[in-house]
Amino acid sequence: MPVVIVGGGIVGLSIAYGLLKTDQSVVVLDGAEEDFRASHGNFGLVWVQGKGANAPAYASWTRQSAALWQDYAADLLEETGVDVSLSQTGGIEYFTDAAELEAYVARLTQLRDDLGGDYPFDVLDREAVKERVPEVGEKVIGGVFSTMDGHVNPLKLLRALTIAVRKAGGDIFTGVQVVDIEAGDDGFAAVLKDGTKVDGERLILAAGLGALQLGHNLGFSMPIRPQQGQVLITEKLPYFLKYPSGTLRQVNEGGVQIGASKAEVGMIDSIDIPTVAKLAKHATDIFPHLGKVKLVRSWAALRIMSQDGLPIYQRSTKFPRASFVTCHSGITLSAAHARLLPDWILERNTAPDLSHFSESRFHV
Ligand SMILES: Cc1cc2nc3c(=O)[nH]c(=O)nc-3n(C[C@H](O)[C@H](O)[C@H](O)COP(=O)(O)OP(=O)(O)OC[C@H]3O[C@@H](n4cnc5c(N)ncnc54)[C@H](O)[C@@H]3O)c2cc1C
Repeated sequence: MPVVIVGGGIVGLSIAYGLLKTDQSVVVLDGAEEDFRASHGNFGLVWVQGKGANAPAYASWTRQSAALWQDYAADLLEETGVDVSLSQTGGIEYFTDAAELEAYVARLTQLRDDLGGDYPFDVLDREAVKERVPEVGEKVIGGVFSTMDGHVNPLKLLRALTIAVRKAGGDIFTGVQVVDIEAGDDGFAAVLKDGTKVDGERLILAAGLGALQLGHNLGFSMPIRPQQGQVLITEKLPYFLKYPSGTLRQVNEGGVQIGASKAEVGMIDSIDIPTVAKLAKHATDIFPHLGKVKLVRSWAALRIMSQDGLPIYQRSTKFPRASFVTCHSGITLSAAHARLLPDWILERNTAPDLSHFSESRFHV
């Protein structure tokens, strides 16, 4: 019997791709177009700097994934012909406020100490930022550069994974809503809305916010919530921005992507003008010439956030062959999910230690 994966976003497909490489048979069940789908609305960063302040295990896991990305993207290109436009030339966080820069550097320094010194970043004064990116405006007082950071085209990544999974013999069913999961001695049955049952030896719940409706029967507590992010994109521009930041990047087609806001507004995934204006102001503070270009699109999407912002990798305590996987940095972690997570799912002794990311951390 196959491994059944509920959810065909970046997380579900990355895991499916990885499991197929270990010769498992895999079925992915993915819901409707109208579902909340972070994988279709994200910012596309493969980002390390600043992640995991106060949580070195997360910083290491993120870094491990970023380090796998070159090879991972090359494999996807070879197997599918889809270039996910990975660029890992490093990233810069730009600052217009000296106190904010100082606090940020203190956080990164602490993180570097927690990780035994292996955490490369350079603090740049205004002139050093200008040397790297001459277009920055007068308000920029400095920045932090790290070689660890980069970005991809997230929609191409989805496309590449979809092709790769199918090519490797995985089944992906789209437009199918799982309404229940039955667990028995021999495995699991994912029950679809039309009553069809899809049997599996193992089950992975990777349904993003959709997991909230499905996980309780399996004993997961699923401490996740939506967090809205709004994103803007400009018309195509001549290439100028070699270094992405957490809030600005020039995509491979030429537009500058601006975002993403963070708001606790429940399940609302529509944009609002004050947020769009704030994002646009931030962008023009850093790069004034963007004030003269057209915005061509804006959208909102919902992050899947745990209480502490870290991923959750949880095996069911009632049915150990069922796992719940979610994270708010599924692009960055896609390489780790494909390359390292399958061993954890299959309970092999080569599995990474993911004990820091279990749900039990929320129950103390
Ligand atoms: C604005 C924004 C910016 C972001 N920027 C970045 C970034 O720069 N870098 C980064 O690493 N991450 C970023 N993220 C996070 C990243 O997008 C997510 O971590 C990732 O997309 C989560 O993928 P997922 O597969 O878990 O969830 P989703 O993409 O939400 O996919 C869940 C899937 O499950 C399916 N589903 C749900 N319920 C059911 C059901 N009952 N039956 C069948 N199928 C079901 C849905 O149809 C959906 O396709 C960002 C997110 C947002 C919102």
